[in-house]
Amino acid sequence: MKNIAEVLENVKTVGIGGHIRPDGDCVGSCMALYLYIRTYFPEIDVDVYLDNPKPIFGHIDRIDDIKTEIKEDIRYDLFITCDVSARDRIALAGDLFEKASRTVCIDHHISNPGFADENHIQGEISSCCEVLYGILDPQKVTLPIATAIYTGMIHDTGVFQYSSTSPETMRIAGELMKTGIPFNKIIDESFYQKTYLQNQVMGRVLAESILLQNGKCIVGYLRRKDMDFYGVEGSDLDGIVSQLRLTRGVEVAIFLYETETQTFKVSLRSNGKIDVSQIAVFFGGGGHTRAAGCDLQGSMYDVINNITAEIEKQFCEEPKQC
Ligand code: AMP
Ligand code: MN
Ligand code: MN
Repeated sequence: MKNIAEVLENVKTVGIGGHIRPDGDCVGSCMALYLYIRTYFPEIDVDVYLDNPKPIFGHIDRIDDIKTEIKEDIRYDLFITCDVSARDRIALAGDLFEKASRTVCIDHHISNPGFADENHIQGEISSCCEVLYGILDPQKVTLPIATAIYTGMIHDTGVFQYSSTSPETMRIAGELMKTGIPFNKIIDESFYQKTYLQNQVMGRVLAESILLQNGKCIVGYLRRKDMDFYGVEGSDLDGIVSQLRLTRGVEVAIFLYETETQTFKVSLRSNGKIDVSQIAVFFGGGGHTRAAGCDLQGSMYDVINNITAEIEKQFCEEPKQC
């Protein structure tokens, strides 16, 4: 893998973009790269595009620089995607990616086919921020850059909880801490803290969840009318699928919510036996072996039946499971 100075050779303009509904790793990696280029390559014009980053990322330096609309007819020398698993997942900046003279993809999704001219993809690494750190000069990672990277790392590892967390993840986190980042504040305020309403909705989903397949599979759901009743959006529902996964005996957790009538955003989490990336890819989505997602149409029960049938098939591939 090239380092970032080599990637940026002979480049005068750079666009950076992440995936739709940007999460902590997406915002963190895009912003860390943006801050690094601004700081160490002042001769390069750099812009960062993301759709509606959440207020919980407000602690990241220059977050207000993010462009949420494309106004000018710009053509970049180089367009870099961070944490984007497939070409159709680039949010508002899709056209800018198409028009750029050269494209680079920095990512960690196992399902990523390598859709750019140059692909820096490491499917076994816990976050895009960690992949990005590997191509930066560690001596040049200042406190604001470290804050953005640390934010992405805690979000994609569930605060160093998921199995993708490696000794190298912890070493890098240690290096970032040395810059003086307010790590406890970042963890509390960007990851764990919920509004009263978000907690209420999580409580409701947990209370109505259903156990299937002898308790190995759990399903939580939220219909549009209930989201409207509470006044919540998809971005208020983070953490629900992770909590479902922590039910004793459960191997796979499924959480779905209705984005529009009869269209569902599905999140899948596995404790290891089932490869949910395979399930998500089968339904046109993607992700990692233990965390993946897809968007499906149909009635809520059709969606649940279709997904659980695929999970059942995988269970049946294991000896003595069916
Ligand atoms: P989520 O359940 O939305 O937190 O997503 C879990 C993982 O799956 C993330 O790494 C996402 O980037 C990926 N993912 C979610 N939905 C999709 C989709 N429709 N297509 C491709 N990847 C997805
Ligand atoms: Mn992401
Ligand atoms: Mn990620």
